[in-house]
Amino acid sequence: MGKRRGRDRLVTCISCGRAVPKNKAIEYERRSRISTDLRDENNVSAFISNVEQYCISCGKHRRITEKLKKQAANRRARREEGI
Ligand SMILES: [Zn+2]
Repeated sequence: MGKRRGRDRLVTCISCGRAVPKNKAIEYERRSRISTDLRDENNVSAFISNVEQYCISCGKHRRITEKLKKQAANRRARREEGI
């Protein structure tokens, strides 16, 4: 069995297609709401979450790192309010 030890797994940046080691990739979870758009009780909606992976430069370029920092700050603020 071809087990590679000591090697990082590579993920593909969805923006530029570059292969990046998983531990260096920037992961951003995007949540979107899907709905069947029926205006009655048969309407079904659900949240789907997609994890998008970017290389470091695309993460910076697309301000993903900033968004993640903001998310973390929001989470922290909410926790402090909840006391
Ligand atoms: Zn990239």
